[in-house]
Amino acid sequence: MIETNAVLVGQLNKRSCIDLNSPNQMWLSIEKEYRKMIVNNVWCANCVDEITIVQYVIQEHSTGIVLRGKCKNCGQDAARVVEFEQ
Ligand SMILES: [Zn+2]
Repeated sequence: MIETNAVLVGQLNKRSCIDLNSPNQMWLSIEKEYRKMIVNNVWCANCVDEITIVQYVIQEHSTGIVLRGKCKNCGQDAARVVEFEQ
């Protein structure tokens, strides 16, 4: 059974117990400036442009993690995969 590890980034600090292998920990292991760059460079199929993702959650992905949220411009669902070297 796969546990849903999605946690809103804004709520991270409220977690008392953090799993080191969780998608959130993987996300936080990325340099802050790079995370910012990723969040601001998500492809939106509706806008046909790179947009800023908002209200996103971090989830497990086969090659790393995936940010799932909404386009800041149009509100359409948007996602961005962040690959991690195995
Ligand atoms: Zn959009």
